[in-house]
Amino acid sequence: MKSNQGAGGPPRGNPERTFSGLMERPVGKCTRCKAPAAVRLPSHNSMFCPDCFDQFFLTAVIRALKIVPLPREAPVAVAVSGGKDSLAVWDVLHRLGFETRGVHLDLGIPQFSEASIDAAREFAEKRGLPLAVHSLEELFGHPLPRIRSQVRMDICSVCGTVKRSYLNLLARQAGAGVLVTGHNLDDEAARLMGNLIHRRKRYLEKLYPFLAAAHPAQAARAKPLYRVDEAEIRAYTSLNHIRPAQGGCPFSRGATSTYYKTALLWMEGEMPGTKRDLLWGHIRENGPPQGDAFGSCERCGEPTGAPLCGVCRLKDRMENQDLKSAGRP
Ligand code: AMP
Ligand code: ZN
Repeated sequence: MKSNQGAGGPPRGNPERTFSGLMERPVGKCTRCKAPAAVRLPSHNSMFCPDCFDQFFLTAVIRALKIVPLPREAPVAVAVSGGKDSLAVWDVLHRLGFETRGVHLDLGIPQFSEASIDAAREFAEKRGLPLAVHSLEELFGHPLPRIRSQVRMDICSVCGTVKRSYLNLLARQAGAGVLVTGHNLDDEAARLMGNLIHRRKRYLEKLYPFLAAAHPAQAARAKPLYRVDEAEIRAYTSLNHIRPAQGGCPFSRGATSTYYKTALLWMEGEMPGTKRDLLWGHIRENGPPQGDAFGSCERCGEPTGAPLCGVCRLKDRMENQDLKSAGRP
């Protein structure tokens, strides 16, 4: 049997007790219908057969939709990276009858981006769903590897800035007022842990699965998978024959979120339900953020909380770097 693997390896403790996710062979009966179980969920003290697991997963998203209001009368944009999370959320929303439009930002990272696009396209074609793919090179003028080699900044935060801005633009072009992402329980609990440790109060306030638009040109941001964890999503994609791109982003190695995820995975192994208690407790206690209104970027008009948006500031940095390099003897 596989153990519950994270970036730092399996958690300590008894793997039979702590293992969560799809099982290689049935080792018990479904908690609901007594058929042979396929998925083990220690945090719910349950084991499910494929059908009951499917129901469990859909119900988790339907529950999430109570505080993540998605429109029925207009299309919803789904930010599709080609990974398991965004393909799973796209699949579930499509099954629940939402009109969805996939949007993908091609970052131009050799091999990784090609594999991501292939997985997103394969999924969209199989279901006959629309997918718009645009590249960072076409929208910004440079692919991510070139930005990385030119500016001395944390590449994950640069990537976050360009994704936030251009995925918002693509959602708008798709005629959607809401942009859905595949962020899951592990992502959000790890982010919460990091923000708690570093007392980042402003980020803590914004850690909510639905953020209303703060500007007329901004889509609301929605995370309908905040109630399900990575093992559950992996089981869902596998049982539904969804083929996500394999392997993570080569630029994200050493990202601090990995340490929080590993720590939480260990705690979850010892005390099933820890991630859920941490995140859901925070969401319940804090409720949706008040949300300050955004202004428009002085240069490009895109939504921003500062005089210049993050993308325009990044462009300035790239140009300054060009000038510096040109001035070098
Ligand atoms: P990440 O920040 O890479 O963990 O991704 C979080 C979520 O952002 C994914 O589940 C997707 O919904 C979305 N996303 C990430 N990368 C892309 C991309 N290149 N194009 C479209 N959506 C993306
Ligand atoms: Zn701007």
